[in-house]
Amino acid sequence: MKKRSKKSSVSKQIEQETQRIGSELWEQLDRRKPTVFERRWWLDHILEWAMQDESVKVQMFRFVDVLPMLKSSGTVTKHLQEYFEEVETHLPVAMRMGLEVAQPDSLLGKALAVNARNNARKMAERFIAGTKTTEVYRSVHKLRGKGLAFSLDLLGEAVISECEADDYQQAYLDLLEELAPMVNAWPEDPMLDRDHVGWIPKCQISLKMSGLVSHFKPIDAAGTSEKVKEQLRPIFQRARELDAYVHIDMEHYEYKDLTLQIFKEICMEKEFRDWSDCGIVIQAYLPDAEDDLKNLLKWAKKRKTSVGIRLVKGAYWDYETITAEYRGWPCPVYTEKWQSDENFEKQTLFLMKNYEHLRPAIASHNLRSLSHAMAAAQEMNVPRNAWEIQMLYGMADEQQHLFSELGYRTRIYTPFGELLPGMSYLVRRLLENTSNESFLRHAYDKDANIEELLRSPTDVGKQHSVESTVSV
Ligand SMILES: Cc1cc2nc3c(=O)[nH]c(=O)nc-3n(C[C@H](O)[C@H](O)[C@H](O)COP(=O)(O)OP(=O)(O)OC[C@H]3O[C@@H](n4cnc5c(N)ncnc54)[C@H](O)[C@@H]3O)c2cc1C
Repeated sequence: MKKRSKKSSVSKQIEQETQRIGSELWEQLDRRKPTVFERRWWLDHILEWAMQDESVKVQMFRFVDVLPMLKSSGTVTKHLQEYFEEVETHLPVAMRMGLEVAQPDSLLGKALAVNARNNARKMAERFIAGTKTTEVYRSVHKLRGKGLAFSLDLLGEAVISECEADDYQQAYLDLLEELAPMVNAWPEDPMLDRDHVGWIPKCQISLKMSGLVSHFKPIDAAGTSEKVKEQLRPIFQRARELDAYVHIDMEHYEYKDLTLQIFKEICMEKEFRDWSDCGIVIQAYLPDAEDDLKNLLKWAKKRKTSVGIRLVKGAYWDYETITAEYRGWPCPVYTEKWQSDENFEKQTLFLMKNYEHLRPAIASHNLRSLSHAMAAAQEMNVPRNAWEIQMLYGMADEQQHLFSELGYRTRIYTPFGELLPGMSYLVRRLLENTSNESFLRHAYDKDANIEELLRSPTDVGKQHSVESTVSV
């Protein structure tokens, strides 16, 4: 009885602190109004305009997705006309007229095509750090100058041949070879380069296991595992030699169990067992997250060396719900946003409690989720440098800078690579930013209500169930 009341008083305290921290952060962001709220990352108002109309948004993202494949101005204009014909009446007058009168090979047609390409490129540059190593180095150096750490991710299309899988592996090996020595020469910054145990690698990379083999097949777990480990070993070895860190991203639900199994197996190998500079992602939109974390904790204790855990909500929500419905399978993800938010907070508490074995990286742009993590760490006496915040390149820049100024180690997940594979990443980010459920979308609303934004997910859930009972 006593134990339960102590637990509930800690939760109460965490909730109070979450509200206090969240309001203070919001106020500090608010004071930077001209930059935060000018929506500079809603490039050229295109997104803002597209968000006002769901049908225009869908056509615009379809167009962005196909654009890199279109080789001539004529085909670009033709696709523009075809895609936007369906939503013609929703377009601004000037754009409608331009699309109507432009012949694909006319001067106006070419101007339209150039304009479309430029806008897509600018949008991509907002979220993608560059193509060549020199550009990537410049981007991460700039982040460092702003007090931000990085984790680099090579954008790739679905790998379908051994040759592509080898290229993906080689690209990471080249990146480590070229970048790690330059980055390691940077002067030490204790806020970014030290945790509660000691120095941590400056050069960090994130990769997807499915990129390392031609067919990542959960149905052939043993064969896939063998191949992935064969490809991953040289990356782990080189990273270790060059004092770099490797993080494994999480992909579709179908891949999750095998990804976790391979990660655990390779980390248990003799040469990596005492290596702590590696980690994996857990997705809170999956009810499975709780058991997966408990299993990881047991495993990490047995291994006797900690690993990093990046907690995210999950990037494939649309894919998972649509695929499950199409195949008639049970849906693996929560179907209400507050449930993912609530689980994210629950798993944040689990990670904070076990930070010595599973080092927490709390990855979100949601001020409520992050304020909750800060409050939890504070109330549970987790040292400030034993956990970190992670955010995506080009998203919520003002929050990134504020957290860094306040002394939180903030790491930016920084994608790089060619534009063509980059487009599906770009479309994922655009969809996420403009989704009705997105925290950022509501936060950028000029009528944003901070009390509403900071509400506990459990309260939101309670209100939902009352509303649905009433409407029944
Ligand atoms: C550094 C970093 C690394 C990342 N790495 C990965 C990765 O490896 N794998 C991966 O999958 N994702 C990854 N993500 C993306 C992440 O999963 C989220 O998509 C993204 O951060 C948005 O969540 P949020 O907390 O910022 O925003 P919020 O607006 O608070 O949350 C949006 C998220 O809520 C969930 N959601 C939306 N609608 C519903 C609904 N109706 N029911 C239930 N849940 C819903 C979805 O997960 C959606 O992305 C990463 C994010 C960051 C910042």
